[in-house]
Amino acid sequence: MLTRRTFTKWAGILPSTYLLPGTCSSLKESAAEKDPGLWVNDIHSQLNATHLRASVRPASAQGLQQVVHDAKERRFSLCIAGGRHAMGGQQFLSDGVLVDTRGMNRIVSLDQQRGLIEVGAGIEWPELIDYLEAAQAGSAEKWTIAQKQTGADRLTLGGALSANAHGRGLAMKPIIADVESFTLVDAGGELRTCSRADNAELFKLAIGGYGLFGIIATVTLRLVRRQKVERAVEIVEIDKLMPAFQERIAAGFLYGDWQFSIDPASTDFLSRGVFSCYRPVDPATPMSESPKDLTVDDWRNLIYLAHTDKKKAWEVYSGRYLATSGQIYWSDRMQQSVYIDDYHRELDPELSGGKPASEMIAEIYVPRPALAAFLAEVRADFLANAVDLIYGTVRLVERDDESFLAWATQPWAGVIFNLHVAHDESSLAKAAADFRRLIDRGLQHGGSFYLTYHRWANRAEVAAAYPQFPEFLRLKRQYDPEERFQSDWYRQYRDLFASGA
Ligand SMILES: Cc1cc2nc3c(=O)[nH]c(=O)nc-3n(C[C@H](O)[C@H](O)[C@H](O)COP(=O)(O)OP(=O)(O)OC[C@H]3O[C@@H](n4cnc5c(N)ncnc54)[C@H](O)[C@@H]3O)c2cc1C
Repeated sequence: MLTRRTFTKWAGILPSTYLLPGTCSSLKESAAEKDPGLWVNDIHSQLNATHLRASVRPASAQGLQQVVHDAKERRFSLCIAGGRHAMGGQQFLSDGVLVDTRGMNRIVSLDQQRGLIEVGAGIEWPELIDYLEAAQAGSAEKWTIAQKQTGADRLTLGGALSANAHGRGLAMKPIIADVESFTLVDAGGELRTCSRADNAELFKLAIGGYGLFGIIATVTLRLVRRQKVERAVEIVEIDKLMPAFQERIAAGFLYGDWQFSIDPASTDFLSRGVFSCYRPVDPATPMSESPKDLTVDDWRNLIYLAHTDKKKAWEVYSGRYLATSGQIYWSDRMQQSVYIDDYHRELDPELSGGKPASEMIAEIYVPRPALAAFLAEVRADFLANAVDLIYGTVRLVERDDESFLAWATQPWAGVIFNLHVAHDESSLAKAAADFRRLIDRGLQHGGSFYLTYHRWANRAEVAAAYPQFPEFLRLKRQYDPEERFQSDWYRQYRDLFASGA
């Protein structure tokens, strides 16, 4: 039998770590208590408590290759985890061996001529941004990232590529557009360079491929010039939103979003929002002195209010944001945000006498002209079904015509819904139904949804949004016939599509 010790030994790599981020607070909590062995969970929803056989943390491409060779020899399946923010078990495999990529966090090279940086795929955004700032401290013109996810920072580049993530760019494609190339350890243990010229099919499959085609070892990212940007904030009604986005884009704004009211008792609910956009300014513009941005304590207070007094939450939030209009930021730092891992553990005793709960996210895409009608329907639905909305945002994304499992198949308006979910069985069943109705409403408008969150979407919904899914599964088995790389998410959809259910 493979134990932690023997696995580490035969893998011939750095010592394994047995990370248990947060407590296992889902339905599986009692099981986790009985068996305090190798349990992991996702950071945000904490709804994916998974028991592992072993966890390894290689620090080099050779270490990754060794793991794959050994897993092949011993017939183990591997799952791949970075920052653990996916929420449908995409990074975990029950009783599997987990490859924790965060040991792969080296800066390999910075090409200041071409604006390219090669880094280990396990690096998280804060380290990358800090490095870029420090390494170019003396340069008049600096490079930085074009986009990252918003709302949380400790996500890895490997995770960003595997979901084909996007940020709050007003006219940006998902992150595939920012990727020059990457290296990947495939199912045979070979290290391959993937780009638009080399292993081009694998390039398109692995980006947005949820870790099913191999372990991304390093990423070469295309950088953009670092700029000073000014934030412009106003309150905008839904019927003025799309023209307002267009005006901002035409005026040269680069980033922006619309965070809508979450108060179901108000007529503003899902129809009025804080519209914040960022435009480049003259590099000589001084940075804001004493900026009025959210502190960790402000964030804690706001998340508490969003659960207990939504009217107040909106007032505080919109007031705070409006007060920051005109502030100057660096284009990369502006994309970072406060986020407290495990914040719900602090809320649980206050909200429900300690019963576990958390938030789950959905991101639904609709054609831009359909946004107002979609949100009006969602409003009626949330009121009728007492859906507890904690926050929500609208962003824009441009069409991705490269990745195989592309979600940005049109220039969408993307709506993010962060819903409160208690972890008891009936609340989970209700949440699954609430999220499915959201997906169905998006699909009725010719829209789509993001696969990186829960796995409550049924086969018909996945097939409607991703008609290429059966071919994706076929190509997965072509590149990985022994299914070396798996996850609970993969198993669920592989089996659903095989059964036709
Ligand atoms: C609070 C919050 C805010 C978010 N905001 C956004 C947002 O603004 N925009 C957006 O697009 N998404 C957003 N997300 C979703 C997030 O971008 C994805 O879930 C992303 O994949 C998480 O990265 P991670 O490093 O945490 O990866 P994990 O959750 O650990 O893994 C996610 C997937 O990537 C695979 N993977 C990870 N590393 C590698 C690797 N090196 N090689 C191969 N496969 C790998 C895993 O197998 C898994 O399938 C958000 C999520 C949360 C919880």
